[in-house]
Amino acid sequence: MALFIKNANQLITMEGFSNAPATHGQMKEISVIENGSLLAENGKIVAVGNAGELERSHSDIIQDAKVIDASGKIVAPGLVDPHTHLVHAGTRENEYAMRLKGKTYMEIMNAGGGIHATTRATQAASFDQLYQESERRMDTFLRHGVTTIEAKSGYGLTLEHELKQLEVAKQLNESHPLDIVSTFMGAHAIPMENKNDPELFVDLVIKEMLPVVAEKKLAVFNDVFCERDVFTPEQSRRILEAGKAYGLIPKIHADEIEPYGGAELAAEVGAISADHLLKASVEGMKKMADAGVIGVLLPGTAFFLMAAFADARKMIDCGVPVALSTDANPGSSPTLSLPFIMNLGCLMMGMTPEEVLSATTINAAHAIGKENDIGSLEHGKKADITIFDVPNYLVLSYQYGMNHVNTVIKDGVPVVENGQLVI
Ligand SMILES: [Zn+2]
Repeated sequence: MALFIKNANQLITMEGFSNAPATHGQMKEISVIENGSLLAENGKIVAVGNAGELERSHSDIIQDAKVIDASGKIVAPGLVDPHTHLVHAGTRENEYAMRLKGKTYMEIMNAGGGIHATTRATQAASFDQLYQESERRMDTFLRHGVTTIEAKSGYGLTLEHELKQLEVAKQLNESHPLDIVSTFMGAHAIPMENKNDPELFVDLVIKEMLPVVAEKKLAVFNDVFCERDVFTPEQSRRILEAGKAYGLIPKIHADEIEPYGGAELAAEVGAISADHLLKASVEGMKKMADAGVIGVLLPGTAFFLMAAFADARKMIDCGVPVALSTDANPGSSPTLSLPFIMNLGCLMMGMTPEEVLSATTINAAHAIGKENDIGSLEHGKKADITIFDVPNYLVLSYQYGMNHVNTVIKDGVPVVENGQLVI
């Protein structure tokens, strides 16, 4: 099956960064084709250019292709969300109300709420309940133009329930058009019962959970929450090094609440990304840049926790390749809208409209090791494409809190049309 998208006001290709992520000024190089068209066949991109050119060079394919007229709109790579906690049970609006009355996120968590509350709900949930709740979230991601997400475990905190979360993600990846790349995050929190002996839980993650997750091939990445009162840098290092021995690539929730050496640790263990980084030191940023660690920034979390935002400008100036993500989770970032995160990137972190596009496409693809398949509109890549009903890309980061998605193409097939799911 062939697909011909033609005459877009702007076609944003993001080409040229599949080998290495965009850094520094490269993050502004989004490659716009005015009046652009794209041809796909069998789920892959064949060519981009202007309509007349493509009609001459590929008339054989185009004559049988489904045609989408994108005039007046922009065409972009399907958005990539490199950090989500997709699979979990329930919501925590009660804690939101408590925070509005003055309690802090860490106070609520240390009193047994926060991650612990979602852990109890997730442990109690059946496979089917988790599957259905998560599937609805995936539908919403698609409607907001996202075609691939990373999804973490970490609300199970026992072998049985961590596996349940990862199995749900695996099955959803197979049955739903949205693609999922899975991360094991047994070290998301220290369970209440291990509060006085966290080393015991670290041993449990390393000796009981990691081997089984790796053997069942349920995850590509291994993530830890490196933060005071959660996992120390030393514990985080042990867990990440142990994962590496099983072929799991490190990721880190780093320097979210206070500077704690997470950015530095990410560089030292060869993490693919360090995420959050609200309080990362400049030294840590430089080490990340030297080691090629992607900085995944989650401004939805700072927004929702009413905290200071990460210093994206300094990070980009230090040479860190920056990506953006929702951090979709029920406690600190209950949103599924990556376009809103793009708005926050511009308005609250000083990024340019071009940089937030790089950060949610090709750099986000690098942050989950998918840069050869997705993140740009280039020959041979997956035909994962989002068409926004805006006349130019500036409007995307200018009009906020609205969903501009008109059409989403996944593997060459429309899955959203006129803003509605058609799956
Ligand atoms: Zn997270």
